Amino acid sequence: MAEPVFDKLKLPESGSVINVADGKLAVPNEPIVVLIEGDGIGRTINGVPGITDAAIRTLNAAVEAAYNGEKKIRWFKAHAGDSSREVYHPNLSDDDIKAMSPEDQRQVYLPDDTLKAIGHFSVALKGPLTTPVGGGFRSINVALRQFFDLHTCIRPVKYFDGVSAPNRNADKVDMVVFRENIEDVYAGIEFEAGSEEGKRLQEFLVKELGGKLRPGWNYGIGLKPMSEQGSKRLIRKAIEYALENGYKKVTLMHKGNIMKFTEGAFMKWGYELAKKEFPEKTVAESELEGDVPEGKVVINDRVADSMFQQIQTRPGDYDVIACPNLNGDYISDALAALVGGLGLAPGANIGDKCAIFEATHGTAPKYAGQDKANPSSLMLSGAMMLEHLGWKKAGDLVKNGISSTISKAARLSKEGAKPLPVTYDLVRQFDGYTQNDGMKSSEFADAIIRYIRGDAK
Ligand code: NAP
Repeated sequence: MAEPVFDKLKLPESGSVINVADGKLAVPNEPIVVLIEGDGIGRTINGVPGITDAAIRTLNAAVEAAYNGEKKIRWFKAHAGDSSREVYHPNLSDDDIKAMSPEDQRQVYLPDDTLKAIGHFSVALKGPLTTPVGGGFRSINVALRQFFDLHTCIRPVKYFDGVSAPNRNADKVDMVVFRENIEDVYAGIEFEAGSEEGKRLQEFLVKELGGKLRPGWNYGIGLKPMSEQGSKRLIRKAIEYALENGYKKVTLMHKGNIMKFTEGAFMKWGYELAKKEFPEKTVAESELEGDVPEGKVVINDRVADSMFQQIQTRPGDYDVIACPNLNGDYISDALAALVGGLGLAPGANIGDKCAIFEATHGTAPKYAGQDKANPSSLMLSGAMMLEHLGWKKAGDLVKNGISSTISKAARLSKEGAKPLPVTYDLVRQFDGYTQNDGMKSSEFADAIIRYIRGDAK
């Protein structure tokens, strides 16, 4: 495959491309992986490192420790968000950008160079990106997911021993959210109240389809397209994941009691798919008699609102959750909160050709440039990336390094020691500690790296 020509990007001096065929990756010893630093807490600002710097140092240390220098990631820095605007369009004012077409705004925040880089090299790690507000171009993240058809978003949420999490059942949390990533209200078919298109749609809905809207009222209208194909490919991935990773249940989370032909259909398609494609490997909860047979996965469903209380009152009852896009957005943050916050919540966006790994959280602007935010979420996203490359040993080192560092903080907290070797968000959850009794993100990363290298106890 010919290498694309880039306008302003500089390829790493060595490294080679990851080839993807029929969903299988051929990973060289020195793969080129695209890196988007991100905005806010992702970025290094005036020399103060962001969480992306902490994550990269940690991932490099894990690869080095796991493979003694035989393997190495060659990071290829590309731009999106604020850094893209600075590099490609430094002279544009906010007003200039607001006056642009949505496609031109996309070029400002997500340049063709970056799309070419991810398309060619297939794997990327991405820091959080600010969502431009009020413009025609909606979201860099959504654009990336749609451009590369990254249909499956995977967000594992597991309790780390020692975290003083807000929920007393937090230690039972070991769930993996499979969020459909490109349909539902995120397809972005929305019309502003009073707009020409909005008025035409309102008229069409009332006159042609019998929609019950109040005459003369000014409606903003959004559409929620959910396809059988899109829903089934997400649910298929969720069931395969449960079977491969020893989980016992796949729960279809929906609001089908109200939205019957979108969310209700998602549930129906889920049961249909399980019966047709995994007849020997799945059993519907309604057909289950007694214990779950060995090697089988139970398929059940829960209405979204009830799911939010279930994960708090009975977190041990749930394993893999398959859900439409918006439900997935909400439940991921709620689950992360159960185990101690967004700083511990990783994610992967997977398509047939490309994959982008990113934390669940956003740019947390109030902590930007302070070396303060928790980098674990991006490190854990990086660990998922290493597993995706088939480098499980290195991924495990990252997870164990984080886990050991948090356990050490928990031990030290019992002695009243200060500061604890974790970031502000985790330290403030220990009794008798405030958010000022923790360490910087970079120091937390250093402590994790010491475990990865075997230099800490
Ligand atoms: P947010 O950036 O996720 O931050 C909300 C709160 O979550 C923070 O104030 C902080 O809580 C906590 N938090 C987030 N990341 C953390 C970390 N690494 N360590 C510790 N605590 C962390 O949500 P937001 O403020 O609503 O969104 C800011 C921007 O990010 C928006 O433009 C949004 O659209 C965008 N966004 C991007 C992505 C993405 O790139 N994938 C995802 C979501 C949002 P405390 O203040 O309680 O400490």
